[in-house]
Amino acid sequence: MAYITCKNAAFAYEGKIVIDELNFVVHAGDYLCIVGENGSGKSTLVKGLLRLKTPARGAVEFGNGLKSQEIGYLPQQTDVQRDFPASVYEVVLSGCLNRLGRRPFYGAAEKKEALMRMEQLNILDMRRQCYRELSGGQQQRVLLARALCATQKLLLLDEPVAGLDPIVTGELYQMISKINRELHVTIVMVSHDLEGAVGQASHILHLKNKQIFFGTKDQYVHSPIGRAFLGGEEHV
Ligand code: ADP
Repeated sequence: MAYITCKNAAFAYEGKIVIDELNFVVHAGDYLCIVGENGSGKSTLVKGLLRLKTPARGAVEFGNGLKSQEIGYLPQQTDVQRDFPASVYEVVLSGCLNRLGRRPFYGAAEKKEALMRMEQLNILDMRRQCYRELSGGQQQRVLLARALCATQKLLLLDEPVAGLDPIVTGELYQMISKINRELHVTIVMVSHDLEGAVGQASHILHLKNKQIFFGTKDQYVHSPIGRAFLGGEEHV
């Protein structure tokens, strides 16, 4: 059974549909990359997957035991977030917030989880450093560790490499790929950076105010839509 099934879903703002005909599935272990130009509906779909926005028609269903609060979310970074005055450890630990229930403090299990995630992402020795003093790539690794504290199942990443230089971008993609392969965490990633992102993905969802392609990466790179988009021009 799939983690996420989108059935003929559409999303609208004030009654006006901005994205339509969404029919795709995400299974455990998949690495889905959502691509499309600016304004094609990627962020709107992310809100829909996080249940922050209800479909205007159709449905977004969760299965295979996935609950919406089990999606680890890595938001697009804003300047305010980049300036966050907390230590690396505190930022990572805050990923455990939704496990606390009625407890007003973190317990041993949450602290252990945060340490394990920092170790997995090679940021353990930065744990006492201030988050805002880190480089962009280091900050993204901290946010990945934070998102992993919230989930063992599915990570939703919104433009994780925006603003990073090519070397750091490559390193971050390798890290995300490792999380997918070795920690068996399903990845759903929105990206502008076509070539880098598509290279790692198992499946592609291409949006242009409706779903214009969903399938495996191999199907995509051989499809007219994929060839046109990867070639740098969108003729579809
Ligand atoms: P992307 O993330 O691919 O850039 P968006 O999902 O942000 O695309 O936008 C899809 C469409 O929805 C665009 O035409 C955009 O102008 C419109 N849109 C986005 N957010 C809002 C909003 N809060 N109110 C009205 N229209 C919006």
